[in-house]
Amino acid sequence: MSTPFSPDQSPHVEALRGLALTSDVVGYSADPVFAWNRDRDPARRVVLASGGGAGHEPMHAGFLGRGGLDVAVPGEVFTSPHNGQIVAGVQQVARSGDEVLLIVKNYTGDVINFAIAAERLTADGCRVATVLVEDDLGSEGAAVGRRGTGATVVIEKILGAAADAGDGLEELQRLGEAVAERSRSLAVARASHTRPGGGAGFEVGDGLLEYGVGIHGETAAETIEDPGLEALVERMVNELLDALGEAEHGHLVMVNGLGGVSNLELAHISARVAEVMADRDAPVASLVSGTFISALDMRGFSITVTAVDDPGWIDHWLAPHATALPRPVAAGVVEPHQGATDESAGSRESSAWLDDLAEQFAALRDPLNALDQRTGDGDLGTNIAQGLSRAARRGGGDLGSELASMAGAFLDEVGGSSGPLFGLVLSEIARTAGDGAGPRDLGRGLRSGVEAVRRVGGAEPGDRTMVDALAPAAEREALDAEAVAAAVEGAESTRTMTARRGRASYLGERVLGTPDPGAVAAALLLRSIAERSGADLGDLDTAALLD
Ligand code: ADP
Ligand code: MG
Repeated sequence: MSTPFSPDQSPHVEALRGLALTSDVVGYSADPVFAWNRDRDPARRVVLASGGGAGHEPMHAGFLGRGGLDVAVPGEVFTSPHNGQIVAGVQQVARSGDEVLLIVKNYTGDVINFAIAAERLTADGCRVATVLVEDDLGSEGAAVGRRGTGATVVIEKILGAAADAGDGLEELQRLGEAVAERSRSLAVARASHTRPGGGAGFEVGDGLLEYGVGIHGETAAETIEDPGLEALVERMVNELLDALGEAEHGHLVMVNGLGGVSNLELAHISARVAEVMADRDAPVASLVSGTFISALDMRGFSITVTAVDDPGWIDHWLAPHATALPRPVAAGVVEPHQGATDESAGSRESSAWLDDLAEQFAALRDPLNALDQRTGDGDLGTNIAQGLSRAARRGGGDLGSELASMAGAFLDEVGGSSGPLFGLVLSEIARTAGDGAGPRDLGRGLRSGVEAVRRVGGAEPGDRTMVDALAPAAEREALDAEAVAAAVEGAESTRTMTARRGRASYLGERVLGTPDPGAVAAALLLRSIAERSGADLGDLDTAALLD
């Protein structure tokens, strides 16, 4: 994949311009490159300045504003800024008598350039102090010290609030160093970022993870087999807590995306982090998740844990602000609401037929998903397999109760478009499948089922839906071999139809050649029901439907 950056453009400068255009507080300079907060809190006496290579957005320029940074100095992507940029940025905002605190991530280029900038500013008569962040356990033991990563966000958040509370230079430096000392991070990646100009920074094999990865496009010291999210998070949290030791006032926890992880996944990871912390009896004072310090679009995440020595840190962490820094809340205890379980659902007698059906459709999950992927969103096989596995759990003693279990499961437990519609058909068939019922009764049920589907879903034959399999079958007197053959033929016929209902209707002629997955599933379900009721289907072959 390539990126929109052209090699002769400096993405960090263009990005600053974009940020300034979408913010009412950020000012920026293109040469030398830096950005600053135009809305400084009057109580703030110390200028907070930070920076580093670009590619970690929203850090640092996104953290400009009340409660955050005063100056942000980006270098080129993953390259430290030069000291002239840092000096110019600070001079833009420093008023006479101001003091300056530099927050620096531990990378050689950053350390050197911020150190030279500190000397130049001092020579100009400015009081300057530095806080160095070295939190990354993935680089523990390196001769140059641990890398500075996620804890930078925590430190900038806490120092921003403390600076607005009027703290002086020494107090802020002490606070920053104390939080840095008690913070550790670990990051993992399943896939590399995309380099500006295109191409992956590094390759990660299938089923593998880079464990302890950095944020500058370097691989980790260790490549591991993916142990699954549960075990992965457990290992990460355990290593972080082991490194930190006892925390007197609980922990601040930040789950951070590296740029290519969805918010859904980050929230899922957070839930798991909370679980492992609870298992370890490690109290969480606050848990936050989001993308705060990224590595371009790297598909990975980091966890940062701060062991709180002083409750004042928590107050600063939770203080309001006007930036893209985390907006954490105090941790509470959340238990999911459990709906009342319906004890009458299903007969609870296990059904060998439903068990077998659930197994058959579990094996069809991938082929049906593949059909739905070509014409929709790739979940139909999962929906059907889930419905039948839930139906098997409900059980049944005869065809009537088995169909009632299927109907209940599809109506109440399966989403998507197909779940409830199959639920409707099945409940109508179930209604006619009582004692002594034969193929004609089931056929009657199918007819009213199809009517219900057409009433609710509004689909006509020819619209490329399950109706194209169900309606031809329902035209027969009985749910027998001919009816099933008509359903199979109907499903086949959808290959030449464009869709007027459902998601496939967005795809126009691109669906041609592939049968409608709902129609295929409907034909397969009717075949199974007919067989269960004793119909002799001869050598009816349905395998071609899944091609
Ligand atoms: P979703 O499209 O919400 O992901 P599924 O993948 O579970 O739902 O189901 C897709 C199938 O649902 C389609 O293949 C089609 O057969 C059926 N379908 C969609 N809309 C309708 C409708 N209005 N009436 C009848 N069947 C429909
Ligand atoms: Mg679908």
